[in-house]
Amino acid sequence: MPQTSMHAAGRLNSRSVRDHNLSLVLHELHRRFSGSRSLICSATGLTPGAVTLLVNELMKAGFIETGGMLEAEGGRRKKQLVLSGRTYPVAVLLLRHESVRLVCESFSGERLVDEVYERDFRGRPVEDFVSFAAGLILELEQRLSTDHGLTLEVVGVVSPISVLAHQTGTLPNADFGWPMLDIGASIRSEIARKGGHATAVMMNDANCAGWAEYRALVQEGAEDPHGVIFIDTDDPMGGSFIFDGKVYNGALGTAMGIGHIQINAEGERCLCGKRGCLTLYASREAVIGRSGLTEVANASGSDFALAELERRAEMGEEPARETLERAVRYVRIAIENALTLLVADCVIIGGYMAAHLDDILAVDNGFTSLGVPGVTSLHAARLGDEAAVIGGLSRMRGAVIDHVGEIIRGETLDPSTLLQDTV
Ligand SMILES: [Zn+2]
Repeated sequence: MPQTSMHAAGRLNSRSVRDHNLSLVLHELHRRFSGSRSLICSATGLTPGAVTLLVNELMKAGFIETGGMLEAEGGRRKKQLVLSGRTYPVAVLLLRHESVRLVCESFSGERLVDEVYERDFRGRPVEDFVSFAAGLILELEQRLSTDHGLTLEVVGVVSPISVLAHQTGTLPNADFGWPMLDIGASIRSEIARKGGHATAVMMNDANCAGWAEYRALVQEGAEDPHGVIFIDTDDPMGGSFIFDGKVYNGALGTAMGIGHIQINAEGERCLCGKRGCLTLYASREAVIGRSGLTEVANASGSDFALAELERRAEMGEEPARETLERAVRYVRIAIENALTLLVADCVIIGGYMAAHLDDILAVDNGFTSLGVPGVTSLHAARLGDEAAVIGGLSRMRGAVIDHVGEIIRGETLDPSTLLQDTV
């Protein structure tokens, strides 16, 4: 029946164009925090008539509201559009070694819930975590509904575990002792079994932290970079690569695992099985250990031990001086290798090494583009420990925006296509 199928295809096509345009308008407001109708027209290339229709629909569905007046060109005042605080909250669950943190924000970014649960799931069955996470999400759904009249659509479970492409599974993790499994699917079925609604997906913490640092840089006025390399030098040492505004995940979710690039082929054996990985020389734990400060770290904390290491290195005391100097040099080599392969125009350093940007630049490395204005900029991360949560929430908000049409129609979201910011 060719006529019927052509008709159906036409309808589907116009619906997907409309969905795409609704997302386009919302993304623009999310990126700029606010805007007028004419600003949206010039940024998206949509006609004023189309923008008016889309804005009206988004207002009716509760995604945006008017928020005061904007001063426009020629002294004219225009109505400012902002994301609504009254609908579509987003949430993340952050799994750390000794805690689980639950954070929920309104669609406009107001923090509604921020709670830390002291729980250590290392060495415990993964089912214990699945059950705990699903319970927290269900309780959050009920609280949001009762206290605010809000429906929770999406939750990101942020952890150090690598997430396979299309969010269909997770790699084994040595820290927690968990096997290869689809943790996200297990949490979703537990939520559904107990009558919950939210779609939960797994996200890698370094990817979320890199995303947050990238967004923070752009929001402070930096030109939108084409490729961003983010390196976290704290433990576990890792990173992420953001290309054209998308997180590069890799098939196994281990892309930009810079801690495990081989920096010394004759070096000692790493946990990953290779020899001489970067993390053995340059991670926070490694430099503390190699400077003989592990006991100090155990007694007084890692921050205190690191400050002592920096003091000793400054005074020229060994082995602190040599350890820190080598860590800086190896991080620089790792950056140069990554730049050779990826040709990124922006590098962001997080963790303890963020205080050593000048030292990294000062390493004599022959010809380089690093730190050259207009070629490759080098920045210190600015969000610290908060980066993974901030990035996770921002990516969840992006997921809601990408699926605005389906949410308006009350359709169930497909977890395998939820994170469209990932390649
Ligand atoms: Zn390794």
